[in-house]
Amino acid sequence: MSTLIDRALKDATDTTTIVTGPGVVSETGRVFTDTFGGAACILVADENTWSIAGPQVQESLQRSGVRLIEPFVFPGVPTLYAGYENVEKLRNHLAGVDAIACSIASGTLNDITKLASGELGRPYLNVCTSASMDGYAAFGASITRDGFKITRNCPAPAALVADLAIMASAPKRLTATGYGDLIEKVPGGADWLVADELGIEPVDEAVWNLVQPPLVEALSDPDGLAAGDVSAIGKLAEELILSGLAMQAHQSSRPASGAGHNFSHQWEMEGHGLDWEPPLSHGNKVGVGTVASCAVYDLLGGLEVDAVDPHQRAAEWLSPEQNDARIIALQPLPAIREAALQQSRDKYVASELAVDRVRLIKQHWSAILRRVAPQVMSAADIADKLRRAGAPYHPAQLGIDLNKLKLTYFQSQTIRSRYTIMDALFELGLLDQVVEALFAPGGYWAETPIPTEGLLYPKD
Ligand SMILES: [Zn+2]
Repeated sequence: MSTLIDRALKDATDTTTIVTGPGVVSETGRVFTDTFGGAACILVADENTWSIAGPQVQESLQRSGVRLIEPFVFPGVPTLYAGYENVEKLRNHLAGVDAIACSIASGTLNDITKLASGELGRPYLNVCTSASMDGYAAFGASITRDGFKITRNCPAPAALVADLAIMASAPKRLTATGYGDLIEKVPGGADWLVADELGIEPVDEAVWNLVQPPLVEALSDPDGLAAGDVSAIGKLAEELILSGLAMQAHQSSRPASGAGHNFSHQWEMEGHGLDWEPPLSHGNKVGVGTVASCAVYDLLGGLEVDAVDPHQRAAEWLSPEQNDARIIALQPLPAIREAALQQSRDKYVASELAVDRVRLIKQHWSAILRRVAPQVMSAADIADKLRRAGAPYHPAQLGIDLNKLKLTYFQSQTIRSRYTIMDALFELGLLDQVVEALFAPGGYWAETPIPTEGLLYPKD
């Protein structure tokens, strides 16, 4: 798979070097001097990541003759929070030193360092400490400001050192969260196929090939991941890095994010779980969103799309004002509402084009079913894989009840202009019916027992 990473680096705009493998932390010094020449280095860590890899990284840099200045180390307790105040704290410190940051980090601290360095116009290097998300090689950082999670633009790291032995020794909940982030690429890929089939957003083959062909293999050993198996965690880690590179090459998160991610984004923007200790992770929410999305894909084959009448749909089509009103009713929080209105207007189809749009989906429906069938997995299969990996697979484990989950199906459809299966169903007038079916007797959510194990919230 490392060959794939090397190939992906050719199309990457920011990242020039990635080394992966067990023990590669000893190459940090060489990577630093190859990338930044004779620049001085400031190590950035928190107390947890420092204890995992700090001394090894420091030694490698010293052996390569890199001039090190005093490290910047955040406290380990409480868990470091991806808040903008931490970005400012680090940025203000970095502004006073003439050195390139080398972060020893996974999601949160990598994002903090990425944005702090980006705001100073400086490159940086990251030594990865867990296989917990796909953002290592991605541009942009997910940061919370005023209680809301937002994505800020900033360049991806110039170099990454992914020592698989270090990543395998990370706490298991971090590996489980990476698994949740990765598994959404299954229905997320299907969403892209839907958009491609309808001519709305073509699949970029080169980028698709970075993420999708190795995906099934990378997801194939949840038991090994739960057991801390280095080979299983290595496959997960490399596939997460490839997803980040795919986003970097595509300059969007489309290759790595579909409707399942939107469930997570909705909860994230609402601030759900951000104040827990440790905070509810991105990948935990995305995993549950993946089950929710796949439960919809499970029902596609049984829908009577032939019976949808384009003229009747056009007659009941929402005007722009009615569509805005729908979104305002779904999104009571002002900051989310504003964003959702903008995103939904971007994908709104005008009434005079409604007949054509519905006809288009009907004409391509059998092709959609044929193309997504080999791509998707059933909701039950996804839930089983997540459970074996030690990840949440039911919203109750995240402190989200079924009423809120049901509402999230409709809310999450509004927050991104990116076209997914939810939009196709919405335009066909079938989204309500599909969601109702999932919660009615016989439906996936009605029939799935509420787990009494693996509850992240409420805490015992
Ligand atoms: Zn993600």
